[in-house]
Amino acid sequence: MTVEISHLIDVAVTTIRKHADELTALDQAIGDGDHGINMKRGFDAIDAARAELSAMAPGAALQKIGMTLVMKVGGASGPLYGSLLLAMGKALPDPAATTELARGLIEGVVAVKKRGKSDLGEKTMLDVLVPVSLALQAGAQQGTETSELLRQLTAAAEAGLASTEPMQARKGRASFLGERSIGHLDPGAMSSYLLVKAVCRCFEAQTKD
Ligand code: ADP
Ligand code: MG
Repeated sequence: MTVEISHLIDVAVTTIRKHADELTALDQAIGDGDHGINMKRGFDAIDAARAELSAMAPGAALQKIGMTLVMKVGGASGPLYGSLLLAMGKALPDPAATTELARGLIEGVVAVKKRGKSDLGEKTMLDVLVPVSLALQAGAQQGTETSELLRQLTAAAEAGLASTEPMQARKGRASFLGERSIGHLDPGAMSSYLLVKAVCRCFEAQTKD
């Protein structure tokens, strides 16, 4: 699976801009109403660095994107998304086979858990990122055909997002609400789902070329 970095940047930036208000609305319900604003600020900065990023090797580009997110997104999610991409970028050879992509994503998820002192089932972005990383790992091990694997990753992200609705938040601002956090989708899980879906679509389009 290979894909142009500029295309990935395109789809990620477009997705976050398109859904910024929705992310903010979700964060209004169980947080402080800035997740869409935070993410848009970060992805606008990535868009501005597009030419430089496109000329870099994937691992280095991911690390630079991670640094940009740490600096520009802010809040809880900036350092968490930053940790994900920094660790993934560090682990990624060029070119990366699907198994190496999987290992990179697992490394990234481990970094998020460490940074957030969090894990699956606490109503955060990890409820999407953990199942997606495990699905990628399983698919890579089994040699699942690319299109099918991309479908499975999107499905894992969607199921992970849905799983956050009945959960009580244990981490982040939403945890301050206690039981009142139940019955809402987690905003960070939504941004992770949207990004995973967009990246999978991008790989799918590229694979068919
Ligand atoms: P803030 O909470 O500082 O306002 P954002 O609104 O940008 O930051 O991001 C909130 C999202 O960050 C949450 O919806 C959740 O998915 C994620 N998050 C918060 N704390 C943690 C944590 N400790 N571990 C994993 N994800 C977290
Ligand atoms: Mg917030």
